[in-house]
Amino acid sequence: MMLWSGVLFVGFLLGTGIRRLKLSKELTRSGRVPGVGLVHAPISLLPLPFPESCWKQACEVAPIFNELIDRVSLDGKFLQDSLSRTKQVDAFTSRLLDIHATMLDSNKIEDIRLGLHRSDYMLDEQTNLLLQIELNTISSSFPGLSCLVSELHRSLLHQFKQHLVLDPGRIPQNDAVGRFAEAMAKAWIEYNNPTAVVMVVVQTEERNMYDQHWLCTVLKERYHVRSIRKTLAEIDAQGNLLPDGTLIVDGESVAVVYFRAGYAPTDYPSESEWKARLLMEKSSAVKCPSISYHLAGTKKIQQELAKPNILERFLENKEDIAKVRKCFAGLWSLDDSNIIKDAIERPGSYVMKPQREGGGNNIYGDDLKLALERMEKVGNEENAAYILMQRIFPAISPAILMREGVSFNDNVVSELGVYAAYVRNKDKVIVNEHCGYLMRTKVSSSNEGGVAAGFAVLDSVYLV
Ligand code: ADP
Ligand code: MG
Repeated sequence: MMLWSGVLFVGFLLGTGIRRLKLSKELTRSGRVPGVGLVHAPISLLPLPFPESCWKQACEVAPIFNELIDRVSLDGKFLQDSLSRTKQVDAFTSRLLDIHATMLDSNKIEDIRLGLHRSDYMLDEQTNLLLQIELNTISSSFPGLSCLVSELHRSLLHQFKQHLVLDPGRIPQNDAVGRFAEAMAKAWIEYNNPTAVVMVVVQTEERNMYDQHWLCTVLKERYHVRSIRKTLAEIDAQGNLLPDGTLIVDGESVAVVYFRAGYAPTDYPSESEWKARLLMEKSSAVKCPSISYHLAGTKKIQQELAKPNILERFLENKEDIAKVRKCFAGLWSLDDSNIIKDAIERPGSYVMKPQREGGGNNIYGDDLKLALERMEKVGNEENAAYILMQRIFPAISPAILMREGVSFNDNVVSELGVYAAYVRNKDKVIVNEHCGYLMRTKVSSSNEGGVAAGFAVLDSVYLV
């Protein structure tokens, strides 16, 4: 591998890249390249070695996490109670909880439930434990592009087999996009209105739209399900409910609402967006996610589930409980004074997280220490907005990364995301399976990990 110079790598990747850009839309919309509306998604040139046992572990536990989220989502009181202190200090979470409370008050039951999740992990080098970073229940991104990167890597290993001496067969099949589309189609079938559409809720300024289009294209081609794309503001302007609860947007009946927006405060610049969110929640459409699935995926709930005897409330099977618990890193609320003291002394061993999604929100190192000291001094409730997490340290390895057509060598760490789909109608579980993966690789000096947020690149897995 090392025989190849960076220059040669750039040469062939650009060639391959150009052909693929046409074939596969492996692109994101760029705000930066002048005169060009598109730029390829940042990628790693070759797949990252990853232990097969950990890979299997992450796949095996995925359906259990699906079931766990579903059970937690049904316990409205647990969600409200666990987030009650956070509600006091976090206006965004508070609005989500208000919608949730409104639904609880009206006894609204979501018979058809669709989860398109991604559980993210890092492999801690010292302990060799695969530890969960977070579980995404809203807008789990890159099911489309991740498949393409696995394919690209496999084809590169085939093409340069003699030089690389790597077996393309060791890159696991990745059909995240196909399996997500299938789950969506099954939820759509359960909704049982052949003329209804899937509505993708999108941000006004979406850079990662081709990942979303990829999914909708598969949905259309394989399952003949149409989709429309609407922002929250458009849904407020063009949406209404029929007396039977059918959601109508822009003249279309909506069977499934698929959120690729709505997870960040910036997605709700006015009351209009919140009205749209409530309207969708009140409707009979299948929400991916429903408000309770959304809340079940918050970092606060992740931390609550890691407390002793909490998993036992939601799962019966002891082996399942043990498998889930094995993935939990240290997680604490900020009312644990021993942990606060330790985190101030050793801030490098912790990550502090607010109830936010989408990357770039966590607090590390000296900033973490200062924030904790300040909150201790002020002594108000602000600390309820955050959780503390054990910092995970994955092994560092060299890699060649490509961003905006330029390659560079760096030392990297990786985060494995395993997609999982869940479809249920009342007591009938229709889909519950792991379905593909996303490897994200970032330079080891970066704390954050989002691809769209500009920290990481898309990668795939080479099982060892
Ligand atoms: P977000 O919802 O913003 O994606 P995450 O919990 O996934 O929040 O954190 C963002 C990134 O921060 C992750 O992708 C990962 O790179 C890094 N990170 C998060 N938690 C940890 C941790 N406990 N140890 C090391 N890195 C972490
Ligand atoms: Mg994340």
